Amino acid sequence: MDRRNFFQSSALVSTGALIGCATPGVAQQKVKTPFEVPQVYIPVVGSDQMFPVRRIYCIGRNYAAHAREMGSDPNREPPFFFQKPTDAVQFVPAGTVADHPYPPLTKQYSYEAELVAALGKGGRNIPINQALQMVWGYTLGLDMTRRDLQDLMKNERKPWEIGKSFDMSAPMGALHKVDSIGHFTEGAIWLKVNGQIKQNSNLKNMIWSVAEQISKLSEACELFPGDIIYSGTPENVGPVVRGDVIEMHIDKLPNLSVKIV
Ligand code: MN
Repeated sequence: MDRRNFFQSSALVSTGALIGCATPGVAQQKVKTPFEVPQVYIPVVGSDQMFPVRRIYCIGRNYAAHAREMGSDPNREPPFFFQKPTDAVQFVPAGTVADHPYPPLTKQYSYEAELVAALGKGGRNIPINQALQMVWGYTLGLDMTRRDLQDLMKNERKPWEIGKSFDMSAPMGALHKVDSIGHFTEGAIWLKVNGQIKQNSNLKNMIWSVAEQISKLSEACELFPGDIIYSGTPENVGPVVRGDVIEMHIDKLPNLSVKIV
């Protein structure tokens, strides 16, 4: 490293510009910043605490019938994950119909109804039989997708980030603590558009359980408190247009509703 590069990198460290790498100790330091960047939180049911979101992971093709409709063989594929930006969270209070903006660039904006697990502990190489101990709470959420852009990028063998990772692409309800709600290994999951049933399955149809997802993901990335995982969607995903109302349900949780505007 020449002298000039050395000084540049020391300056970056001292202004805190390297914050954001996976070194939690660094983020605790008081540093001077030119502006504030808000932390994203999810409200917690029955508590005045808010859950701080660190990362949003999503598993792909985790129900066999959905994997088939996406054109892949559910029997041969190991689980794979992608991320949404943390600030893609749109919190939707129970009992409300939140306005959800139709995003730019797409002509095929699609819903995916999913169980969401939120972690209170992390680690690397977490064994399946210990993985559920990492879960702090659960909610339900929509993995909103610009399907046409995802497909276009898939066909061009480019990353499909633009189809999945964009503003407001992660509507979700308040978190329910595991202490009060327990874990989710089965139970109805459905989604309606304008009162008409579109997706209708059961959590037990997941190919990889929440415990298996945590275990597998922790082989690829060290997991930390604040990480949340979208656990995949059943078959019959489809598009919405402005004016449509989406309502989704998972047994034990209050329904989540948004109106596309
Ligand atoms: Mn999904």
